[in-house]
Amino acid sequence: MRKKNKAREERLAKVLRERSEERCEYCGRDGCDPAHIIPREHLKTRYVLENLLYFCRECHIKFDNNKEFRELVISVLVGGKKYMRLKEITKGKAAVGKYKYTEIE
Ligand SMILES: [Zn+2]
Repeated sequence: MRKKNKAREERLAKVLRERSEERCEYCGRDGCDPAHIIPREHLKTRYVLENLLYFCRECHIKFDNNKEFRELVISVLVGGKKYMRLKEITKGKAAVGKYKYTEIE
């Protein structure tokens, strides 16, 4: 199971690298890794492409620890509607397919 999840995370990271051209989606720096909008503990949105951003180390740390920065990034890069939809999926109120979001298998 753990091995399977690791392969899934690698596929997700590959798609993110392509989407972002390996640059931070907030500031444009390199040296990035995937950051979950809805935290990764939530299984329903863990592998949903729309729930991830590709961040440099600095932006990732700020996103996870600074509420104001987090809210700014969500409003600029994600948008309220998409964020609300992700929350619906997390709570089980909507399926991923309802919004045509992409779940990486
Ligand atoms: Zn950055």
